[in-house]
Order: sequence, then structure tokens, then C-alpha cells
Amino acid sequence: MSSNDVNRIWIKGGHLIDPATKTDGPRDLLIENGRIAAVDTKLNANPGDVQVIDATGLVVTPGLVDIHVHLREPGQSYKETIASGTAAAAAGGFTSVAAMPNTIPVNDSAEITRWMQAPERDARARVYPIGAATVGSMGATLTNYEALRDSGAVAVSDDGKPILGDETMRAVLSAAAAAGLPVIQHAEDTRLTGGCSMNAGPLAFRLGLRGMPVEAEAGIVARDIALLRELDDDRAHLHVAHLSTKKALDHVRAARHSGLHVTCEVTPHHFVLTEEAVDEYDAHAKMNPPLRTVEDRDAMIEGLLDGTIDCIATDHAPHAAHEKEQEFERAPNGITGLETSLGLSLAVLHRRHGMSLLQILALLSARPAALLGLAAGTLAVGATADVVLLAPETEWAFRASESRSRSRNTPFDGWSLPGKVRLTMREARIVHREDPSIRQP
Ligand SMILES: [Zn+2]
Repeated sequence: MSSNDVNRIWIKGGHLIDPATKTDGPRDLLIENGRIAAVDTKLNANPGDVQVIDATGLVVTPGLVDIHVHLREPGQSYKETIASGTAAAAAGGFTSVAAMPNTIPVNDSAEITRWMQAPERDARARVYPIGAATVGSMGATLTNYEALRDSGAVAVSDDGKPILGDETMRAVLSAAAAAGLPVIQHAEDTRLTGGCSMNAGPLAFRLGLRGMPVEAEAGIVARDIALLRELDDDRAHLHVAHLSTKKALDHVRAARHSGLHVTCEVTPHHFVLTEEAVDEYDAHAKMNPPLRTVEDRDAMIEGLLDGTIDCIATDHAPHAAHEKEQEFERAPNGITGLETSLGLSLAVLHRRHGMSLLQILALLSARPAALLGLAAGTLAVGATADVVLLAPETEWAFRASESRSRSRNTPFDGWSLPGKVRLTMREARIVHREDPSIRQP
């Protein structure tokens, strides 16, 4: 076969950071037929046979992985579609996203799981559906985990709601272990959070809002860990979504020290903001779990630094303007996050807390991919060519009005962030580019 028959791309002169292979240095990358063909300090390809992309001055890193997004399709395409949500993902450097099942209808079947992955959805990032743990996420009857898994689901969850009943959660952990799927828990004891719209404490009292106590999160995490221990099945994997409190993090840390397979994620907003952001009744600071205290936020940063927190996930939760623009207690929970996750991580974890780019990019690629067993998040030879070119020190202003998402509900509008994504490539196809002179090979 002559080389003209092969689709070849040479990414030249960049600084490669691939946490999965612990590479952090100058490397060229050769892509052939959608896969990484070579990684070397100096490649010698014949420029006539390849498309050359000049990465001088840029970091070359794997496409990022977000294991917690809400793409709103099927059912609420006025908030977001799979196409618009994954366009936002690509702009933020993400090439793999795991989509929560709280769509309309709820994704509790193989049919919807397949529909979400169909080429007609026009996704720019690979979409990995998460199946509902119970039918309609109603917390009663378990869904068919083997059928969900075989149609492409990578975990089960009733996110948006907790799996509350002890008997149900016991059965979910057991059935998911047998199917080889992680259970992702939205840890909220809703018996303690009815009518609540922010964190409990003096600020909620002053604002006249009902507050969610720390115990509502920590209590469910402790209960789930106890059930996992009691199940005593090596295949069982409990993952705590959007952890927000020091107390719940302490439970996770202790469980891991005792050898249990418990993992957790944190969102950028929970390690960047505190409940003070709610002070003006700004619904763009309303989310569930709520923004917490300085002590909780600092515990999240500590957990990222010491490795107790496995990964960063956005909980990207688009809502239309008319939904957010109503009184605070009525406004829906959640914010968009795919375009700001990397910049916020670099601003806080790298600049303020001295975390290396390798460590931060691990939390955004290799570690979430490993957590869900995804074939993504590395640039090792043979891997799928999901590649991001990043200008790590370049400051840019995030403008909600320019977002690729259909929704604009973000508290970060106008923030200046470091780290500009110049190019995102999924399976060797350009899915986002800043510089139009870079053409699709
Ligand atoms: Zn949730």
C-alpha cells in the first residue's frame, strides 16, 4: 500500500503531556487512519505524504473525558441537543462525554441508549450513555443491566435523584457488580432537603432560604459505603457523583483506605466557588448539590491534591434563560460547564495551588477514562487519535453569549481564564478549531 492511501497527520513541534503514559516533554505525534501510529522526539515523515500541523509552543494532550454531563436529548432539545452539547464539549477540549439518563423519557432501555449513540445525533464528542439504575429513575424496579451494557451503557445511575431505599440500593449494587457496571450515586437524602435551594447555614438563614444540610450528602455516602462493605463482592464499584462536602469526602477517604472500591468526582464549581455566590439570589449559582462553605471548598482542593478525588466532572446542566430567570427558589438547579472546566482547573489548581499540568490533565482524561473503563484518554501508540492542542498560558475571556451550548446558565460569564483550546480532534477528525487555516486532513 502506498502512503497516499493512508490518512496521515504529523503534529509537529509540540510539548506532549499524556498522563496515561507519564509523558511530559517535547514529542511529535504521527496519526495514521485515526490512530496514534508513532510518538517520538523527532519523527521523520516525508512532508509530501502527510498533513503537518504545527504545534510549536502548544501542549499536545489527549482529548478530555467528562463522565457527568446532561445533554437533554431526548425530550428537552430547547435546553440542549446531543449535537450542541458535544459542540460545547469539543470547544472545551472534550472528546468523550458520559451522558446522564434523566432525559424525557428517562434512558432506562437499550433502545434509548442506542438512539443516543446513533450517527444522526451528529455528536462531535463520543457519547457514552449512562443507563438508569431503576425504571424511570423511580427508585423501585431495577432496569436490565445486561441489556443496557450490551447496547453501550457504561454505568448505571438515577442522577438528579438518589437511589434512596436501602433494599433498592443493595439490589442495585449487587446487579451492577454482576453486569460489570459502576453505580453512580447522586448522594442526597431527599428526606432532609425538601424545599431547599442552597447550603444550610447562617447565609441561608439571612437570605430566608431553606438550606440543605451537609448530612443529606454525607449520610447517603456513609450508607452506600456500608452496603458496599456488606455486599463483599470484589466486582462492585460505587462512584459518588459531584461530591461537595468535607464530611462526605472523609467517608470516601476512609473507605478507600479500608480497600473498598469507592471513587468520586468533583465539579469545577465546587472547588472554585462557595455559597457566597448565592448572596444576590443569583440563580446562576443555584445547583444541586449546592455551593458550600469555604471549608468544604478547600477540602475539595485538598482531595484533588492528595488523590482521594478521582476526577473532575462538569455536571454540565443546561437550562433555558426563562427557566433560570425566575425567583431563586423556583429556578432549576445546575449550570453549563463544558467550556470552562479546563480553564477553571488551570486557574485554581495550577496557578493558585501549584498542581502540575500533568496532574490536572490526568484528572480530566486518563483517570475518568480508567474509572469507567473507556477506551479514551491517552495518546499511546495504537490509541484512538483524540487530540487537543492547548495554549496553556493564554488568557481568554469566556463569554456565555458565544457558547456552543444552547443554554447560557453559567456563573462564569466574563471570567478571564488561562488555557485556550486551539484545536480538538476526535478520531483524527477536527471537531473544533480556533484557527481556520488549519484544514481537515
Ligand atoms: Zn446529580
